[in-house]
Parts: sequence; C-alpha cells; structure tokens
Amino acid sequence: MLSRPGPAAQPAPAPAGLDGLIGRTALVTGAAGGIGRACALRLAAAGAEVRAVDLDAAGLGDLETAAAGLPGAVETRQLDLTDLDAAEALAAGTDVLVNNAGLQRVGPIEDFPPEVFAKVLTVMLEAPFRLIRGALPHMYAQGWGRIVNISSVHGLRASAYKSAYVAAKHGLEGLSKVTALEGASHGVTSNCVCPGYVRTPLVEKQIEGQAAAHGIPADRVVAEVMLADSAVKRLIEPDEVAAAVAYLCGPQASFVTGTSLVMDGGWTAH
Ligand code: NAD
Repeated sequence: MLSRPGPAAQPAPAPAGLDGLIGRTALVTGAAGGIGRACALRLAAAGAEVRAVDLDAAGLGDLETAAAGLPGAVETRQLDLTDLDAAEALAAGTDVLVNNAGLQRVGPIEDFPPEVFAKVLTVMLEAPFRLIRGALPHMYAQGWGRIVNISSVHGLRASAYKSAYVAAKHGLEGLSKVTALEGASHGVTSNCVCPGYVRTPLVEKQIEGQAAAHGIPADRVVAEVMLADSAVKRLIEPDEVAAAVAYLCGPQASFVTGTSLVMDGGWTAH
C-alpha cells in the first residue's frame, strides 16, 4: 500500500539567494524595461553574474544602482539588437539567456507600416535566434544551459491590430521548442514564459493610447479592454514574471523544456 508522503518527504525549497546560479553568467535583453529589469535583479539576487543589455542607457544606469549589494554583479551594455552580428557575439560564453527585449505597435494590417513589421520581427524573433546561436556553443561545451524566452499570451492567442507582435511571439514559441529539441542531449533547456498584461512601460503606453483612441479613462481601458478575457482581474507585476524565469533557470526545472509557462490569469482557459 502506498503511504502518503509526510512533510519530511517534501524537498525543501531553496533558500532565497541560493537558487543554483552562483558562478553562472546570465544575459538579459531589454534589461532597462519592466520585465527585463526585474529578471536581471532576480537572477543577480540568485547569485548570477548578469550581462544586462538594452538600447536605453539611462535605464541601464538605474538598473546598476538598483543592483548594488546583490550577490551577483550586474554589468550593463548599451546595444541595439537590430545589430544582429553584435547581438550574437555578445551571447558567447553565457550560461543563461533571457530573450526579453520587445516593442509593440498597434494598428490594422492595411495601415501597418511594413518597416515597423520588419523591425518588430528583427528585435523579437531574429535577434533571439542570433542570441541563442551565439550562446549554444559554450552551453553545449559545458553540458548545461538555460534559455528563457519571454513570449506572451500573444504567443498562444491572437488579438486584432497586433499583427507584428503576435507573429513574432508565435514565431518565438516555435524557435523555443526547436531549441529545446536540439539542446536536450547537451543539458540545455529552452522554455517560454507567457504573461498576460504586466504592469510595465510597454503596457502603460498602450493604456494611454487606447484611452485616447476610445475617449475613456485609463482604468476603464484596463478593466474593460485589457482584462476582458482574464479571469483574474488585475495586471501581473514584473517580479512575478521574474520569479517564473528564476524557477526555469533553477535546479528544480531541469526536466522542464520545450514548453510554455503561462501566467495569464486564466485568459487561455476560455
Ligand atoms: P518595456 O518596454 O518595459 O521593456 C522592453 C525593453 O526592450 C525596453 O527597455 C527597450 O528599450 C528594450 N528594447 C526595445 N527594442 C530594443 C532594441 N532594438 N535593442 C535593445 N533593446 C531594445 O516592456 P516589457 O513590458 O518589460 O516587455 C518585455 C518583454 O515582455 C517583451 O518581449 C514583451 O513583449 C513581453 N511581454 C510583456 C507584457 C506586458 O504586458 N508588459 C506581456 C507579455 C509579454
């Protein structure tokens, strides 16, 4: 007869700051923004030496200040990820890669500027491919690596007027799965994290834009437009996404690969 495991049989949770990332390097793109900054700080708190990459020099400066005193150092690097060769070169030698940088443009397909579509695909799909390509040789050589791709509920579901963003995120989901299949025998996992709406500058801009477009106050945009399909009626905080990223990089997640950790408040349960 099977006995029910008592509390002593449960694995103890890792103490804060000891998530197995001491001595690891982690590259986080878009690290000056909401989710990227939270990820950089969370991984540095877990002991990783973080390479924080973004276009935004001022935001990277703020991140350095915020990271002072954490167990892992945060080294910042200003880079436009549309420089794909530089992105690939920068990823060499990293143990953990968090593909997070992104941008949004909302508009109907017939008016959508082709050059914006191309840029969104470059930053949010082609750059992750090049970063993964740059990171894998070192990960394969040491038999360990963690790739986390910040996708979205829009990697799994579409919304009207977000053609470039939805296309890029669906592509990222595919890229992540292929990386998982190729990397498994080398000790490399690859996963996506798929949040609903997170309280970050990217979303705050959308709230302002929608409020102006519909002539309604910002709180109604959040409640009636953004959270219409979410069972949990609040925005997610960047730290909650960063905790999921840290879990996927930690020792408890070595069997988790080729999948998507959905944090959408029940949106995709419909
Ligand atoms: P954010 O605007 O706060 O941060 C994005 C960061 O990416 C910015 O700091 C920006 O400077 C950087 N970036 C953009 N283009 C770049 C480029 N060419 N080179 C280098 N850096 C560049 O946005 P966020 O909400 O923190 O989004 C981060 C990621 O999370 C994105 O991939 C986004 O699609 C995804 N996401 C966000 C939400 C949300 O609701 N905020 C939901 C799901 C997924």
